Amino acid sequence: MANQYSYSFREGDGKNKALLGGKGANLCEMTQIGLNVPPGFVITTATCLLYQEKQQLPIGLMAEVKQQIAVIEQQSGRKFGDATNPLLVSVRSGSAISMPGMMDTILNLGLNQQTLAGLIAQTGDRRFAFDAYRRFIQLFGKVALGIADEKFDQPFAAVKNRAGIKADIGLEASHLQEISALFLEVVRVETGEEFPEDVYQQLEIAIKAVFNSWMGKRAVDYRREFHITPQIANGTAVNIVMMVFGNRGSDCATGVGFTRNPATGTNEMYGEYLTNAQGEDVVAGIRTPKPVSELAQEMPDLYQQLVALRTKLENHYQEVQDYEYTIESGVLYCLQTRNGKMNAQAMVKTSIDMVDEGLISKQRALLRINPELLEQLLHPQLNPHHTVPVLAQGLPASPGAACGACVFDADTAERLGKSGVAVILLREETKPEDIHGFFAAQGIVTSRGGKTSHAAVVARGMGKACIAGAEDIKIDVKLRLAIIGDIHLREGDIITIDGGSGNIYLGEIPTIAACFSPELKTLLGWADEIATLKVQANVDTPENARIAAEYGAMGIGLCRTERMFNASERLPIVIEMILANNPQDRQRALDKLLPFQREDFKQLFVAIYPHPVTIRLLDPPMHEFLPTAQQLEDEIHALKHYLLIVKAQRVTLETLNNHTHLPAPFAQLSEETVSAAIAKKQLMLKKVNELFEVNPMLGHRGVRLGMSYPEIYRMQTRAILEAAALCIKDGLQVHPEIMVPQVITLEELKKVKAIVLEEQRLVETEHQLKLDFKLGSMVETVRACLRAGHLAEIAEFFSFGTNDLTQATFSFSREDAENKFLPLYNESGILQDNPFEVLDIKGVGQLMRMTVTAGRNNNPQLRIGICGEQGGHPASIHFCHQIGLDYVSCSAPRIPIARLAAAHAKLLAAQN
Ligand code: PEP
Ligand code: MG
Repeated sequence: MANQYSYSFREGDGKNKALLGGKGANLCEMTQIGLNVPPGFVITTATCLLYQEKQQLPIGLMAEVKQQIAVIEQQSGRKFGDATNPLLVSVRSGSAISMPGMMDTILNLGLNQQTLAGLIAQTGDRRFAFDAYRRFIQLFGKVALGIADEKFDQPFAAVKNRAGIKADIGLEASHLQEISALFLEVVRVETGEEFPEDVYQQLEIAIKAVFNSWMGKRAVDYRREFHITPQIANGTAVNIVMMVFGNRGSDCATGVGFTRNPATGTNEMYGEYLTNAQGEDVVAGIRTPKPVSELAQEMPDLYQQLVALRTKLENHYQEVQDYEYTIESGVLYCLQTRNGKMNAQAMVKTSIDMVDEGLISKQRALLRINPELLEQLLHPQLNPHHTVPVLAQGLPASPGAACGACVFDADTAERLGKSGVAVILLREETKPEDIHGFFAAQGIVTSRGGKTSHAAVVARGMGKACIAGAEDIKIDVKLRLAIIGDIHLREGDIITIDGGSGNIYLGEIPTIAACFSPELKTLLGWADEIATLKVQANVDTPENARIAAEYGAMGIGLCRTERMFNASERLPIVIEMILANNPQDRQRALDKLLPFQREDFKQLFVAIYPHPVTIRLLDPPMHEFLPTAQQLEDEIHALKHYLLIVKAQRVTLETLNNHTHLPAPFAQLSEETVSAAIAKKQLMLKKVNELFEVNPMLGHRGVRLGMSYPEIYRMQTRAILEAAALCIKDGLQVHPEIMVPQVITLEELKKVKAIVLEEQRLVETEHQLKLDFKLGSMVETVRACLRAGHLAEIAEFFSFGTNDLTQATFSFSREDAENKFLPLYNESGILQDNPFEVLDIKGVGQLMRMTVTAGRNNNPQLRIGICGEQGGHPASIHFCHQIGLDYVSCSAPRIPIARLAAAHAKLLAAQN
């Protein structure tokens, strides 16, 4: 139907989340698989877009809404706006992607003076009815009429105080009646109008309010932070559902559950509930709820129904579900379900378990995990041997260790966080409007609420440490103080939190690197079986190579040899090499460097054996190893002053004491010594000035150095081949790959190849064995892409250096771009991503595609990989798979992410 704006739960397509939103589609699906869902309907996301376009509801929508309400009336036997048996509804948002708490919801809609009387008659419970009424006025007032919560909080607190009541539960019907009247007055004063009595008018205003919340600041910020583009979710649906009440007495309850434990992944009943309460009480953390296990005692029959509900949900969705339910007068209703947001550890464990249980396939087990999530598993944990006493304890709501300065509101968290200060956000409870504080904080602590409170759910989704319901902490936001017994924590005081245990500590506690769980090993093993792309590591030291091997690297795709030059015992030799005025002096320095390099390479080969190791010949401009001219001039200036002091000291002593022996420390520092130091610095300064380049990154670097100083590349080649020879003698058949940086023409490769072949002959003769190695080229200049076919005549492999290639393609220098204009480009949407993090498929990607085709045309055996930073980014990995690369190489901590992304790329390509 062309203009169908809404679908009843009985007819809506449960798979069409784009049109019905995640919540709406699930309500349809749950209804259709026979779960007890209260009757209702969904207004589509397409209707939301029409509303956004015209800023008015489409003509015909409200007529359709009336028909849908009539259907609910028929199913429930209640009537909307009826004075004797009223139907009340909830009006809930829900886009294609879950955005917890980011958009608005209104409950108990349909109450007015008449229906209120009807509700009292229907339930025989005045207290309940007035409680529902005052909640409705406040929520409608806030969401639909834009009245701040504080306006309602004041009269509410006044009535409570006057009556001497501490907890809301102690309020009697007469108090709630008075509060309702005061709330109506608040609306009158704040809006200048009466609270709407017509229930359809209420409904129309509420629908508009939910649609408006799609463009609200919270929702817009959230979408930007989590890269939710219009392709992923466009507009919110509105779900209109018959109200069921968990707060109509002691045989009523409301709860939220996960089909498995979302913190650990354990297969067990998990969740919390409150008897005689409304759902928002659990989620908002206003009362601390009870664990679901207590329901087994309190309402054994309903507990069993809940167990059955959980099994049915998982079997149907084949995914861990996060569900909400209400028990109204002994009847269990399922109000919502969605895929559970879990931390990485729980996602991995549930994937393994669900495959073992026969619930899902290995492919599904891999695809359900977002590769980026695995980064959490590599987060540090508290050093288990620390002895710092626990300051306070709460519920372990989201694991991981975090340390930072206490802050008490989201704005301060954001301000300090943006200036680089690590902060922990402490709140009584959090609300959706605190979301920017979450982004900025290292961890979150609340003094109220349970493991399914807003703080817990949001922190888990972000993989941030969170402790909820730390009831021993009294938080005073006004005084910016957290009080724990005698201890006062002020803003800026440092605390450490452990979201895995719920412990809070004073001060900073050292952390240790996270370890690879056996479950993660299994999962990534499945990924490797499926993926065609191999994942290698960018590492420069044997120690990092060992870590990379542990993370499952299938070789080293890039060893930047220059990083080996910076160690303290080597740098002076490197400087000696640079300062050399003739080839003989340079050779002497190179001869000293060779054993260091040989030993490093040998250790790299061993650490990652039997996988290949790609070693790149020297790349950066020489001046990077020398001090700057300014630094040297300052030092020379100081030394000249010092020379005068040494001289004056000698003259003084000679004059007064008539002896020439200088006391320590001057004994060491004769005028000759200081003069020699000055001469050395001056020589260095001369060299630095000679090496000066206007734009060194586009200057004398990479293979250009190898052309000017072939003896450097010769030494490195010799060290690589000798290291290989030594390994072969030790029984390890290693396969070095020698890689040439910054290549622009075949002629450069030819010259390097000549050096390599000479060294090969020498080393093979000397060690009496055969070496097996490859010579390849970085592709990081635009010309290399354009001449790829020719380069492939010599190169046995290509490795895309997309750091440099991105700079060259955009004509941006990375440092300048990221520090100056790139944030603006990203925020204003001129560029969607930072191309130095996410491969620019439309530009750089096209050069790559061209290079692959041309290279393989001339050399079908050509191995091709990527070693720029983008090689560890999932979307970039998908593209690398698509254009047929053989491997990606990334930093060690990204390897697990890249392995999973490589499997995803293969599986998703097969699906399309
Ligand atoms: C590159 O340019 O992508 C690369 C890997 O080299 P470097 O980052 O060392 O310039
Ligand atoms: Mg480079």
